[in-house]
Amino acid sequence: MSRVWNFSAGPAALPEDVLRQAAAEMLDWHGAGMGVMEMSHRGKEFTAIAAQAEADLRELLAVPANYRVLFMQGGAIAENAIIPLNLMGDKRVADYVVTGAWSVKSQKEARKYGEVNIAASSEASGFTSVPPMAEWRLSADPAYVFTCTNETIGGVEYPFEPDLAQIGRGAVPVVADMSSHILSRPVEVSKYGLIFGGAQKNIGPAGLTIVIVREDLLGRAMPHCPSAFDYKTVADNGSMYNTPPTYAIYIAGLVFQWLKAQGGVAAIEAQNIAKAKLLYDFLDGSDFYENRVDRACRSRMNVPFFLRDEALNDAFLAESKAAGLVQLKGHKSVGGMRASIYNAMPLAGVEALVDFMRDFAARRA
Ligand SMILES: *Cc1c(COP(=O)(O)O)cnc(C)c1O
Repeated sequence: MSRVWNFSAGPAALPEDVLRQAAAEMLDWHGAGMGVMEMSHRGKEFTAIAAQAEADLRELLAVPANYRVLFMQGGAIAENAIIPLNLMGDKRVADYVVTGAWSVKSQKEARKYGEVNIAASSEASGFTSVPPMAEWRLSADPAYVFTCTNETIGGVEYPFEPDLAQIGRGAVPVVADMSSHILSRPVEVSKYGLIFGGAQKNIGPAGLTIVIVREDLLGRAMPHCPSAFDYKTVADNGSMYNTPPTYAIYIAGLVFQWLKAQGGVAAIEAQNIAKAKLLYDFLDGSDFYENRVDRACRSRMNVPFFLRDEALNDAFLAESKAAGLVQLKGHKSVGGMRASIYNAMPLAGVEALVDFMRDFAARRA
């Protein structure tokens, strides 16, 4: 068996220890005589797996007691509809901060359910920055303010937490799509009304969506909101109103255990800073490659970069693949290359990438 360094933006690499444990438990989980995929979601074994996963996630992110953790399905794109269906309420207007492809998509979907006010946008900069909160123009009484705190495609990450109290609007709930950087750094959960993310970037398999929602935001869904997507229904049923994605929850739980063994979120953040610094310092010191994101807003998780001579793109991709470095092609809307270096990517993987890039440049210069 030989494993590659996988820089996919998602579904993305998982910790090898987690994959090995899942393989060992595939046929018989802890003496149950069956694998996790085959268990009833209401049986005592799976109920314990889900409860442990939730407890570990709460511990890792220090989720306050007045927040509910929901295990849902449909991914972040489904949440783009589920959020307005649940939170627009009587106000019928929500504010969106647009910083890239994902928040563009989110505000577009929300328009089906109410009025959308674009509070701020970095479109003029080609989505290479995050507008500072002092420039946000909130509407008079929005149901919530939507943010995407790490734009996976553009490689733009908020360099601050969107704490509306700092602009005197602390009563408005902040919603954050954290799909591609959840658990990569500590967050102050109490500053948000709702945090959500698909699992397949930084947590586990596709099919699981994590929602962390403040309790007072439950029970506001529009009458036509599907029951399976009504946060109150999901919360009241312990995320088992419908059958949850059981195997994805189990793998996510193993990832949470792995993260705790690494020392938790603060420890993994230190590793993520070191990984990102290695790659960005190399890019900045090179006249062969470049990153075009505003330095203060560069993502630690998703690093888009360009070869200054784009005629070499195909050779770069072919040779990197031959060297065991895969999924480096940039998103089609951006072009160039992108290296996603989530929690599960060890420093050694980033070192291998930088070594290859240095060697490639030397051979072509
Ligand atoms: C990947 C991603 C999405 C889309 O997730 P799906 O699971 O395909 O719905 C949305 N937002 C962000 C920030 C993402 O990284």
